[in-house]
Amino acid sequence: MSLIQDQQIKGLTVRDLMIPGEKVAHVQLNNPLEHALLVLVKSGYSAVPVLDTSYKLTGLISKTLILNHILGLERFEMERLPNIEVQEIMEKDIPSVTEDLPFMDALKMVIDHPFVCVADKDGIFDGILTRRAILKRLNRNFYEDRQKEKKE
Ligand code: AMP
Repeated sequence: MSLIQDQQIKGLTVRDLMIPGEKVAHVQLNNPLEHALLVLVKSGYSAVPVLDTSYKLTGLISKTLILNHILGLERFEMERLPNIEVQEIMEKDIPSVTEDLPFMDALKMVIDHPFVCVADKDGIFDGILTRRAILKRLNRNFYEDRQKEKKE
């Protein structure tokens, strides 16, 4: 990567690459697991953020968490889905970043997570930063660089 491209990447913040909150599928704390599973299956995502009524980030819910929770001895006990709330089983201890964090710092966090939530200093949800958005951007820079090299 050229020095200019390198500087461009270093100058990026989470804000430049994140998916804004209004485009992110989410569920609420008191939604039943049945609703959460519907959102996850219909959207095709493996996990989505959990927000409270004031749009504050409170956790993450995933297909794996839900299915593990209703796994009986020999079958999935689907009849339990309407009676359990998302807040009872969600993952509460989740990392989050702020919009103004340099992209290079957030990059380290998506090594261990497919996406990282973005929230302001009061915990209000702003969006998510996904591995896909990061890879797309790095791929673009890489090919722009190759094109430049060919012309020189
Ligand atoms: P990706 O890097 O695009 O494959 O996304 C990784 C994960 O981020 C997905 O499996 C979802 O859990 C989450 N994700 C991506 N886009 C969205 C979205 N628009 N709404 C909710 N979750 C998303």
